[in-house]
Amino acid sequence: MRNLNHISLYTFTARAIHSQLAIIGGGTAGLNVSAQLVKDGHFILQNARLLNRMDVINNETNGKGSTQKCMFERLSSCENDPEQNIIVTMDGQKYTYDQLIVASGVQRDYASIKGALEQLNNPEAPVGSIYYYRYAQKIDKMIREFEGGKLIFSEPPTKCEGIPSNIVFLTHERLSTRGVKCDFHVYKANDSIFGIPKYSQILGELAHEKGLHCHLKKRLIEVQDHKVIFEDIETKQQYTSDYDFLHIVPPLKPAAFIAESGLGDSDGYVNVHPNTLQHIRYPNVWGLGDCSSVPTSKTAAALMAQTPILIKNLIRTWKLKQNPLPEYQDIKLKIVLRLYFLSCLYFEQESIAC
Ligand SMILES: Cc1cc2nc3c(=O)[nH]c(=O)nc-3n(C[C@H](O)[C@H](O)[C@H](O)COP(=O)(O)OP(=O)(O)OC[C@H]3O[C@@H](n4cnc5c(N)ncnc54)[C@H](O)[C@@H]3O)c2cc1C
Repeated sequence: MRNLNHISLYTFTARAIHSQLAIIGGGTAGLNVSAQLVKDGHFILQNARLLNRMDVINNETNGKGSTQKCMFERLSSCENDPEQNIIVTMDGQKYTYDQLIVASGVQRDYASIKGALEQLNNPEAPVGSIYYYRYAQKIDKMIREFEGGKLIFSEPPTKCEGIPSNIVFLTHERLSTRGVKCDFHVYKANDSIFGIPKYSQILGELAHEKGLHCHLKKRLIEVQDHKVIFEDIETKQQYTSDYDFLHIVPPLKPAAFIAESGLGDSDGYVNVHPNTLQHIRYPNVWGLGDCSSVPTSKTAAALMAQTPILIKNLIRTWKLKQNPLPEYQDIKLKIVLRLYFLSCLYFEQESIAC
């Protein structure tokens, strides 16, 4: 067991609670896969246990919809010991499992940008972000009340470029409908407007048509009152700019327990085989959604395609004692492309909606 020094002695006295299946993360992927497993009759009530961080579960999610069919645990955080099939939550409770699905998503790292949280949490500061509901409500208000000036949209390296583009074009649409005079600037850490050349070209033309200025290879490093500092990714040179409106896309990172428990790849994502979603080292551990190492875009569209693959292989290896489905073993590209294609479709729909 690793990193137990901050867990109280009571950890070692609490009786472990066993479930056939434990799922860490009750977000889009965790709810999707658990609902499907129960619906397909693979699990009965109380054999599947969904563990989610306490601070983000609201009453509506807990006890309604698909979650009512699983035991739903709230916890502040957790640790996992895959060698012994044990999850230990921060209150010291132990959960054992036969099969584990990790679906803990990614975490927003606003704190890595100096001054960002201070400005985001200041109701008077014109700084918002659609990646967290309170900051999203703030940005909606900012758009409604904006009377003109310089807008800045910052974007770190991301595996889903559709979402940052959405807020740029939606803001532009709403402000131009109101006839507000604006100076739009988009700062991206990536070296192109969009990762797929075809879409990059279309978005580039759209941006030009709408008078949006794009600055590539620039990373936001500091936010001050009406002033931002960017760093050039290659030269490390710093640039300062004023703003009247700032949207921040936070850097995203996987939960720390994944790396700490030995489940992570070199970037800290759950190290699963991209064809089967089974963990590279632990055959009874599975991963899907944003926290997994699968090389697709990190979108709900991608995880919807991952869910049936994971379920088929989990049931096959666990209940039928067979190897993961052979049809997924030698066609890595096909699966990757299929997931990628779904993500593109999602992006296309979003672009049309803009
Ligand atoms: C603004 C925005 C718009 C988007 N629009 C689209 C769209 O139109 N189409 C699309 O396909 N995708 C979209 N996405 C992406 C999509 O929302 C994500 O890819 C998807 O929600 C990921 O699901 P997930 O279950 O992997 O992670 P999440 O839904 O984030 O769930 C992870 C869960 O794990 C929990 N958790 C984290 N750490 C722990 C821990 N230590 N212990 C226990 N639980 C933990 C979290 O509390 C959370 O409930 C959008 C994302 C954003 C931010």
